[in-house]
Amino acid sequence: MSGSADSLPVVPHWIGGAEYVQAGGRTAPVFDPARGVETKRVALADRAVVDAAAAAATAAFPAWSSLSLARRQAVLFKFRELLDARKGELAEIITSEHGKVLSDALGEISRGQEVVEFATGLAHHLKGEFSDQVSTGVDVYSLRQPLGVTAVISPFNFPVMVPAWFFPIAIAAGNTVVLKPSEKDPSAAIWLARLWRQAGLPDGVFTVLNGGKEAVDGLLAHPDVRSVSFVGSTPVARYVYETGTAHGKRVQALGGAKNHMLVLPDADLDLTADSAVSAGFGSAGERCMAISVVVAVAPIADALIGKISERIATLKIGDGRRRCDMGPLVTREHRDKVASYIDIAKADGAAVVVDGRGVAVDGDPNGFWLGPTLLDDVPVTSRAYTEEIFGPVLSVVRVASADEGIALINSGAFGNGTAIFTRDGGAARRFARQVQAGMIGINVPIPVPVATFSFGGWKDSLFGDAKAHGAEGVRFFTQLKAITSRWPDPGQDRSGGLSMGFPENK
Ligand code: NAD
Repeated sequence: MSGSADSLPVVPHWIGGAEYVQAGGRTAPVFDPARGVETKRVALADRAVVDAAAAAATAAFPAWSSLSLARRQAVLFKFRELLDARKGELAEIITSEHGKVLSDALGEISRGQEVVEFATGLAHHLKGEFSDQVSTGVDVYSLRQPLGVTAVISPFNFPVMVPAWFFPIAIAAGNTVVLKPSEKDPSAAIWLARLWRQAGLPDGVFTVLNGGKEAVDGLLAHPDVRSVSFVGSTPVARYVYETGTAHGKRVQALGGAKNHMLVLPDADLDLTADSAVSAGFGSAGERCMAISVVVAVAPIADALIGKISERIATLKIGDGRRRCDMGPLVTREHRDKVASYIDIAKADGAAVVVDGRGVAVDGDPNGFWLGPTLLDDVPVTSRAYTEEIFGPVLSVVRVASADEGIALINSGAFGNGTAIFTRDGGAARRFARQVQAGMIGINVPIPVPVATFSFGGWKDSLFGDAKAHGAEGVRFFTQLKAITSRWPDPGQDRSGGLSMGFPENK
């Protein structure tokens, strides 16, 4: 901790195309996780700031939504070019507040950029339908129109990619966006707001509202906010879905996960071990698509554990700016909570194969470190198995058959992603059809769909009807209008006459 919170810079809001900090407003600490020091404060919005943000976004909507598609697309193209040219700066900001290594930060920006690129082609996805002569002299056509002010509320683990699942499509479709980033790593959002301005986006179309629960509650209740796109933990996702829909809003709320990798005895064990380590420990396990459970079908468990352990021993843990493989966890509290699951698993009878506590690091000893941890024979009744850990703790569970593995995966509360490793195409196809999850990988450990498809889980991993980006994203950020028009032929009788019955098509 630094000596005085007063002397630290404050991450502001971005309202009406300018930074804003409320005089005397509350703030919260922002840390550099690799050094364990508080480096900034972040402004926390109260209801008055929420109202100011919503007012700016509301005021910007009429002009932005009625601008031609060609002009809106030109801003999107410019934003894409600026982002591509300057993403190194953004990666450094992510690493300094989140802790993930720079290459991983660049990876998340690239996946967010994919959605920007998808949105540059939104004119195609906004095309309506037309039916000629449905009744005599009558045609019907449909339009997709923007909603108005849309809110995006994001988690700490992807400060760029997750907001970018939503805002490019929302903006390209003619909406205005109020982004409420995580208070743990808020600076990336402000950087993006400046980039939008440079790209020519009119003031008020992209707003950043910093804060915590008070800011979220303000958005959920605000009469001018038409939709909410939330990503975070399951209890908060459920709360946001229930509260937002009770206020009449369109809500998509993506929650937590516990992703399993089923390994059949015929799998390529080197590919499988590489994948388990990359997907289990990349970003220190702080990914909603991280693999947290390896379900090993007898008899390959021992061999697989050996290969995973060998690879863990090669990983370099340390400051994300020093070419390490894995960085720290986001906060001290989160690190301690994740580490507590090692004791829980051990007390419940699991074997601790690799214990990440006390790992040697290339970084400041005050950083929020926890090394890769491997647990074997984790009882499925243990909280270490049933709860989302969200850290570098990989559990192995042994099963006798593929069917037992599928039944185990389907018995869980979450349904975000899951993967199978096998050389048997029929077994993989059966798995893909039977498993209860929204995103499936076949010899792919982190099956995040490309931007042209939609991202989202099942069960407690998503509340609402719409996933992120792809066709579902376009539908979420637009409302459909059907127009029935009569333009009688000049040669025909145009008088019509009175008709008091319900209109029939003739
Ligand atoms: P979180 O739920 O603590 O916070 C998410 C957002 O909600 C933040 O903006 C936060 O300020 C706000 N928030 C927190 N508590 C709140 C409350 N009580 N009321 C209203 N708002 C509140 O999540 P996190 O720790 O930032 O992120 C990690 C979680 O996000 C994990 O559970 C992870 O699985 C999940 N996640 C899911 C996906 C997905 O696609 N399903 C993607 C990324 C992260």
